[in-house]
Amino acid sequence: MVGKPVRPMARSICESLFGHASDGVLVVSADGQVLRANPRAGELLGWTEAELLDLDPDVVVDPRDVRWRAALDTREREGVFRGVLRLRRRDGSTFSAHVTTAAVRDDESAGAYISFRDTTPTETVGVRTVKTPRAAADVIDSLESFSDMYVGVDADWKVTHLNAQTEYRLRVSRDDVIGGDLWEKFPALVGTRFEQVYRSVMRTGEQASLEDYYAAADLWCEVRAYPLFRGGMGLYFRDIGERREQEQERERLLAAERRARAAAEEAQRALAYRACHDELTGLLNRSGLVQEVESVLAARPASGVTVMFIDLDRFKLVNDSLGHVAGDQLLTVFARRLADVARPGDLVARFGGDEFVMVLFDASAEEAGRLAEEVVAASRQPVDEDARLRVTASIGLASATGTANLETLLREADAALYRAKDAGRERAAWFDEQMHLESVNRVQTELDLRLALDRDELFLDYQPAFDLRFERITHVEALVRWRHPVRGLVSPGEFIPVAEECGLIHRLGEWVLARAVEQAVRWAHLPGLRVWINVSPAQLADRGWPELLAAHLERVGLPADRLGIEVTESAVADRSRLTEVLERVRALGVQIAIDDFGTGYSSLARLNEFPIDVIKIDRSFVADLGTPRGEALLAGIVTLSHAIDAHVIAEGVETVSQLAALSALGADSASGYLLARPAAPEHLPLVIPTELDFSWRAGLHPTLEKAFSSVAGTRPLTCAPVGEDGPVPIVPLPA
Ligand code: C2E
Ligand code: CA
Ligand code: CA
Repeated sequence: MVGKPVRPMARSICESLFGHASDGVLVVSADGQVLRANPRAGELLGWTEAELLDLDPDVVVDPRDVRWRAALDTREREGVFRGVLRLRRRDGSTFSAHVTTAAVRDDESAGAYISFRDTTPTETVGVRTVKTPRAAADVIDSLESFSDMYVGVDADWKVTHLNAQTEYRLRVSRDDVIGGDLWEKFPALVGTRFEQVYRSVMRTGEQASLEDYYAAADLWCEVRAYPLFRGGMGLYFRDIGERREQEQERERLLAAERRARAAAEEAQRALAYRACHDELTGLLNRSGLVQEVESVLAARPASGVTVMFIDLDRFKLVNDSLGHVAGDQLLTVFARRLADVARPGDLVARFGGDEFVMVLFDASAEEAGRLAEEVVAASRQPVDEDARLRVTASIGLASATGTANLETLLREADAALYRAKDAGRERAAWFDEQMHLESVNRVQTELDLRLALDRDELFLDYQPAFDLRFERITHVEALVRWRHPVRGLVSPGEFIPVAEECGLIHRLGEWVLARAVEQAVRWAHLPGLRVWINVSPAQLADRGWPELLAAHLERVGLPADRLGIEVTESAVADRSRLTEVLERVRALGVQIAIDDFGTGYSSLARLNEFPIDVIKIDRSFVADLGTPRGEALLAGIVTLSHAIDAHVIAEGVETVSQLAALSALGADSASGYLLARPAAPEHLPLVIPTELDFSWRAGLHPTLEKAFSSVAGTRPLTCAPVGEDGPVPIVPLPA
């Protein structure tokens, strides 16, 4: 043996110790890289030796164990550290280990070795189960490595233990606290729920827990208090600040969502109610009455139906001389009286203005006549004490049995009403056959309209709509006009209903479609400009309509995305084959808008069944802006519309404040006399932008400039890049 070199021998002994050690050993370089690892280290940590070599030691250290830092400091100072620290396994679980770590150095480099042995105590060991001093010591050791805070007190409230986490989190030192009275050392506990709970645990010997804010350390904590075997109590604290924040954030989001949902539901209820009721008097409105009559007739088809058309004489005079408030008061009182006259089961509605309608079921002519007399008598009663507000009523009556058609009856009762008025008012008149002659006017309109189509008396005006964010014209709506050779300009409000009734709407509608696509082609050079046309429900009831539409697009070579169709809500209400037709229109690439939204049957649930790109809010809602109720309703509609991904256009904007309010409420676009009146194509303010700037605003119509300046006050102005598909900017309107 003599003469054999010692060094290799020593090295192999070292290797053997290293390889077979029951402790895990890691050798790390000064910069923290693992240089060597023995098999036991791999076993304890759950990595292979090779994997350990690539690891950052931070991975195996439990980062929540604040004592690692102290351990490294100690090693720095004294060359070696011994103590219990927490390590982390590959699977993320942690365990306590007796750790020795010492600085090592050779000729070339410095580093450290770390050896560790699993102490295998379990954290879940309750302090109650501690029986022997040895076990207690182990548990206390493991408490040291807890990520929770731990404080132990004896039966006299003297602090017996306090772990490193507690020192660190509560910024106290053991030397100072241990042996002291809990309430003296932590005076902030006195008077808190913590104190209540601790005292009750001490008193009852029952464990307890609570979550509360510990102000002294600005800490939300969860505390579990366990009575100890030998008297006294162990207190575990856990910082739950993060969890609470998450919970509160979730709670906030949920509350916001609940509020938004409630607002949308409220708006929907309000819409549904408003759709069927007159706002001023609370009576049914026209569409409400139609629905109610339909449902009665569906249940009892053979019912006799009598329509009483009631009009207040000289109501306009009251309104003009005494003002709207007085007028509204009169209408409200009269509405109540009507409801009083009506028998159970009769329906009472207000059609707007001073027009009321009562529908009686199965009333004899005598009974209806008597009720009409009662209504006239009721109207004579003064409304206010000094009897300034008084009017009378004229009434037209019409009835039918079996196959009653409400629209026909309404028309007949209306005609009878005129006869009552002609006969000197303050009376009722029955419709008779002779009165058919009085609808001659309507028939004349129909005849003239047929000729108008052949004689080219119709033309289209176009009204632009503006994107509220980019202040650009994004589309124009085609509105049909009739220049009658004798009557002059007749408004579409007058002749469209006639056309719809007599079926002329199909020819008229196709004429509009043909002219509108031709004009759209002339505007092909304006990027992104879409032309919208109004389409009557009757047109859409025709299954062949989508083909007609496609044929016209093809005839002029207009891309489908340059066209949109506006459909009224009433059309949407009776869905029948409408969905199918609209789907086919949509499939062509033509957009779909719901027109006059809010005036007809408004149920988002049903709208959702239809393909809809745009919701056009009726101008009555815009007129209501400025009242809190009007704004809330509009905000609700905007929310509903955005919820079904529809673009919101508000119609009939006439004032700057309406425009500003709409912008603030999140409406996407707006149109109205304030922005531009309907006009012939050559008078429309459309040009192609030459560069991306705001200079086009410089010469704006003064009202418009002012409007946009005020909108700009509520939100910053942005300017969208105007590319191929970009919107068209606004250009000066003729003053
Ligand atoms: P609409 O589709 O709701 O069209 C908007 C109406 O409001 C137009 O009346 C327009 O001139 C008017 N308007 C626009 N801005 C304002 C404003 O700021 N204040 C006020 N007070 N009114 C404004 P117009 O042209 O008399 O049309 C009435 C209705 O006739 C249209 O209502 C639409 O339902 C129907 N109509 C018009 N053209 C056609 C058409 O080609 N086909 C069909 N089927 N219906 C049409
Ligand atoms: Ca329209
Ligand atoms: Ca409209």
